Amino acid sequence: MESNKNDRGYNLSDMKYFITGGAGFIGSHLAEKLLDSGAVTVYDNLSSGKDSFIKHLAGQKGFNFIKADLLDLDMLKKSMRGHDVLFHLAANPDVREAIRKTDTDLEQGTIVTYNVLESMRENGIDKVVFASSSTVYGETPVKPLAEDYGPLLPISLYGASKLACEGLISSFCHIFKMKAWIFRFANIVGPRATHGVIFDFINKLKENSDELEILGDGTQQKPYLYVNDCADGMLYGLKNADEQVNVYNLGANSSTRVSDIAKMLIEQMGLPNVKFNYTGGNRGWPGDVPQVRFDTSKMEKLGWKPGFTSDEAVSKAITEIIKEI
Ligand code: NAD
Repeated sequence: MESNKNDRGYNLSDMKYFITGGAGFIGSHLAEKLLDSGAVTVYDNLSSGKDSFIKHLAGQKGFNFIKADLLDLDMLKKSMRGHDVLFHLAANPDVREAIRKTDTDLEQGTIVTYNVLESMRENGIDKVVFASSSTVYGETPVKPLAEDYGPLLPISLYGASKLACEGLISSFCHIFKMKAWIFRFANIVGPRATHGVIFDFINKLKENSDELEILGDGTQQKPYLYVNDCADGMLYGLKNADEQVNVYNLGANSSTRVSDIAKMLIEQMGLPNVKFNYTGGNRGWPGDVPQVRFDTSKMEKLGWKPGFTSDEAVSKAITEIIKEI
């Protein structure tokens, strides 16, 4: 069994973890894993997260849920007291939202991240793990992108906010002697998903099983990562990476086309005659990066690989999400 002690001597078993967005899709899976090695406080306003995602954790030793907003700085400072490691996952999850409301990511991404860092500083908490995204890279040549790729020019307000958050985290680390583990996630899939291409397709097919609207021309191709692999990867990185600011791509080194996701889905749903209606163009919406490839060698050198390829993760997630919806 893997030791909970890393070479820096942190005994991760004795830690008190604080997860912003811990009642969300990824956060709730992470909370389950962290409860095995310490106490966990979930801080979430349930804007896109759900009570039902964490209800099996309520009552377990060391678990605590605070229903509150990260914009409430006083509440946040008070709630964080006494914790050792901060996992900051709360954010607006919908990249498309900014087309309708342009200040969403500024408020729910950048400002809440400032609030988290400021509360950490006041409470003397010096370790933060951050859920960033491949969207920080922007639209790039179609090649596997490593963490040192630049310049970073996001094309969505969601990506711009993630990049701003990375900058705030790096600066707080430098000035206030904190340490950070920034993970740039691929597309995360699996049970409890409340958004994303698989979730959208299944919902559309439940409404009309004759036709499926596919945004763009279906050639969009990105790496997908199974949600348990995502939580595992973050924990592995936290235990084993030891720079002051650790930046890692977290995803598969393979990728899956949107049209192939649609094909896998109709096969698993037993709907072979569905007509695909493409909305056209090479991307799903303005701000969508249609082609994403990840260079995952930095995580591999650290000793971690996901358990599933991109196609396997998609197929497994389809099976599981069909049962949930
Ligand atoms: P999610 O919507 O399920 O989780 C976000 C959680 O944050 C929700 O529970 C929501 O209620 C909470 N939240 C949002 N604003 C809040 C606020 N102001 N105060 C308190 N709580 C608030 O989304 P997810 O897919 O689990 O994403 C988790 C993180 O991972 C996000 O930061 C997201 O940007 C990042 N990420 C996700 C993916 C993906 O494919 N799912 C990819 C890249 C990055």
